[in-house]
Amino acid sequence: MRIVFLGAPGSGKGTQASLLKERLGLAHISTGDLLRAQVAAGTELGRAAKEVMARGELVSDAIVLGMLEARMAEPDVANGYILDGYPRNSAQAVALDALLDRLGMPVDRAVLLEVEDEVLLVRIAERARKEGRADDNPESLRTRLTVYQEQTAPVIEHYAGKGNLRRVPGIGTVEDIHARIRDALA
Ligand code: ADP
Repeated sequence: MRIVFLGAPGSGKGTQASLLKERLGLAHISTGDLLRAQVAAGTELGRAAKEVMARGELVSDAIVLGMLEARMAEPDVANGYILDGYPRNSAQAVALDALLDRLGMPVDRAVLLEVEDEVLLVRIAERARKEGRADDNPESLRTRLTVYQEQTAPVIEHYAGKGNLRRVPGIGTVEDIHARIRDALA
């Protein structure tokens, strides 16, 4: 199974992708995690991405695509994958289609986790207290939500047009939402 997860910051993509990885043995590919690893390792890529991420803006398409291509070449991806945090704008959606066609691993399902803005704000405030991520502050969060509305939301139409989009309510317990996702994948 090859899956793209869509949803706003705080919608639970990371949590649900980890659970699916565990239960279905898929590769969980989070571009946010890959970028944070580069920042932590102090690589050139990480240095280029650090401030952009802290502001809540998007890292350049070329940087993220290069990083993703390298990750897609790893052997675990052959069993199927969950993409979390990519594509994040229309250009990335087009680039992803080209990459996956070339690799012969097209997307089977796009799953959109739907959560109201008020709930997102509460969840991210909570995560800020627990994890202290550099971009979980009120100003960056506003930017991330705006970027999501303006740049990422159009990606939903990209998959709706292909007929493989499934909308899943992202409210309830982690297990409830997981069960809904499993139904949406069936
Ligand atoms: P969230 O969706 O909860 O805000 P992520 O961990 O998915 O968090 O991403 C954190 C940050 O990493 C983004 O705000 C952005 O700066 C950068 N990032 C992640 N994925 C991409 C991407 N596909 N393209 C550009 N930037 C990205």
